[in-house]
Amino acid sequence: MCVFCKIANHEIPSKAVYEDDQILAFLDISPVTKGHTLIIPKQHFDNFSDCDSELVKHIHEVSKDLVKHYQSILNPKGFNLLSNMNTAAGQSVFHVHFHLIPRYDENDGLVLLFNHDDSVQYTKEEINQLILK
Ligand code: AMP
Ligand code: ZN
Repeated sequence: MCVFCKIANHEIPSKAVYEDDQILAFLDISPVTKGHTLIIPKQHFDNFSDCDSELVKHIHEVSKDLVKHYQSILNPKGFNLLSNMNTAAGQSVFHVHFHLIPRYDENDGLVLLFNHDDSVQYTKEEINQLILK
């Protein structure tokens, strides 16, 4: 059983901030900012692509409630909501989780860079291939 399944089963303690029969939200053990929270389904899926869409919807609804709640308590200037899929994208725990990260300023603990890569070019054919039909 994976570490987040054990947390969902209360076999490993966590600092839970929300729980119902389907999902659990708890404070990250290595927070990048104050309020850094992980939201997981209790059922195991490896990543967000595998995760049942109704559960993702429910996680999104609870994320929005947490945003409103944290806004009133922590007064951040913004939030990131993100989920990593596979090692190449930074996933280290292979039970789907969404990071909800309150943001305070550009020097806080999260560095998220979208560096423009000039070498990325598209032919018309490549763009056509990318269109979801
Ligand atoms: P990721 O790299 O996207 O897979 O994120 C995994 C996150 O899980 C990291 O931010 C870890 O700090 C966090 N984490 C790992 N183990 C625990 C735990 N026992 N309780 C709370 N957070 C954890
Ligand atoms: Zn699991």
